[in-house]
Amino acid sequence: MAHDERGVTPQSEDFSAWYNELVIKAQLVDRGPAKGTMVIRPYGYALWELLQADLDARIKATGHQNAYFPMLIPESYLNREAEHVEGFSPELAVVTHAGGKQLEEPLVVRPTSETVIGEMMAKWISSHRDLPLLLNQWANVVRWELRPRMFLRTTEFLWQEGHTAHADEADAMAETMLALRMYRDVAYEVAAIPVVPGEKTPGERFAGAVKTFTIEGMMRDGRALQAGTSHYMGTNFARAFEITYTSADGKAELCHTTSWGMSTRMIGGVIMTHGDDKGLVLPPRLAPYQVVIVPIGRGERGEAATRAAKDLAARLRDAGLRVHVDDRSQLSPGFRFNDWEMRGVPIRLELGPRDLEAGTVVMARRLGEGKESISLEGAPGILPGVLEEFQAFLLKRATEFRDSRTATVDSWGEFVEAVATGWARAFHCGRPFCEDDIKAETAATPRCVPLEAEEESGRCVRCGMPSEYGKRVIFGRAY
Ligand code: AMP
Repeated sequence: MAHDERGVTPQSEDFSAWYNELVIKAQLVDRGPAKGTMVIRPYGYALWELLQADLDARIKATGHQNAYFPMLIPESYLNREAEHVEGFSPELAVVTHAGGKQLEEPLVVRPTSETVIGEMMAKWISSHRDLPLLLNQWANVVRWELRPRMFLRTTEFLWQEGHTAHADEADAMAETMLALRMYRDVAYEVAAIPVVPGEKTPGERFAGAVKTFTIEGMMRDGRALQAGTSHYMGTNFARAFEITYTSADGKAELCHTTSWGMSTRMIGGVIMTHGDDKGLVLPPRLAPYQVVIVPIGRGERGEAATRAAKDLAARLRDAGLRVHVDDRSQLSPGFRFNDWEMRGVPIRLELGPRDLEAGTVVMARRLGEGKESISLEGAPGILPGVLEEFQAFLLKRATEFRDSRTATVDSWGEFVEAVATGWARAFHCGRPFCEDDIKAETAATPRCVPLEAEEESGRCVRCGMPSEYGKRVIFGRAY
């Protein structure tokens, strides 16, 4: 049977169909009218806002300030950094007509904002006292994606982009790593995704960067998701946009810049890291509703249950929880239970006349042990701890899954087997054509050179040449 009663193909049967159906069915998104665009519905947007609020607080706490730059960028700006324009050209949407006339110079809809922000940095920075300049913007960007997928790769997406300028390489590199650590922490602490932070190989670098760092998560089908990136630009953009400063001893110097971004893709990561056959499983820290209360019963007894549910909801909100009362009494309790299970709510409380008489409420977790009765009075004291445990459980489960699907391999046979279901940790020669060979044969790409891996060297798993990175590289098929 391809579909269960709610119409979502089970994850275990067809991961891709499960994902595509679930994001719609759970009311996270809808398809936008233009190809590759998505409408983010209130339930999905609430998730994004929670992620955004957490990341924004971290960005500000580390000394960055938010600003906003225009969405339309003169095409000539992109042309100033050769690698940048080459990398982004195929993905650009360009405005050639406006106000009923052809424009003298086409305007690009920003795919990212290094260029326009670089131009402003050049204007705002003159002395070493102006450094570091630590900016962040929350915005939408447009990249013409050929294989769009909800959240993961849409032509328009929401993100934050950090852009900073520094006096020297050491300071800019410290910033690059700080941003990466911030992303790692958000992934672990909020999304419960045990990402691996590491450096991209040259073939996977951002267009115009000297070094690109990433956090890579493993999804439940064994594929990797690049969930955030942090780039050290060296002086490439400073040279192109004349971002210079006068040093303490009066010399003109080029700034070193960085940029880093995390997007709505992260929500796709949450769905694919924790979801199961029944639907979404949301980590409590990101769940729009951490607790849903379903009052049960008909007539007067039903009304009493609804009143008690609303009263309980108020007390739980006072305890700091996000709570929803589902009093759609025209729908059966079973239907409502399934609905919130599919939509990933961590805790469901069922409140019927008999519970009310006993002064209890039935608690069902989205995962794990069956139902249990807890005291109505005591619920605000108990539930925050249950949610904390649930959050920790998700991270632990995802970590065990990742580790069970990651193999350390030294032969080509083992490599092919490992990347069919997960990740391979292998030595690589670092030559781009060898990476291409591996990709052509297995669809796997180097995801990162993990920062935390031990120093080792050996022979390339594919061609036998000496390894390049002094560490094993993680390979996997990716989204
Ligand atoms: P980049 O500027 O290319 O380093 O991208 C920064 C981050 O944005 C990436 O690490 C992805 O997580 C995310 N991202 C890139 N392209 C898309 C897209 N088309 N849709 C959603 N997220 C994206």
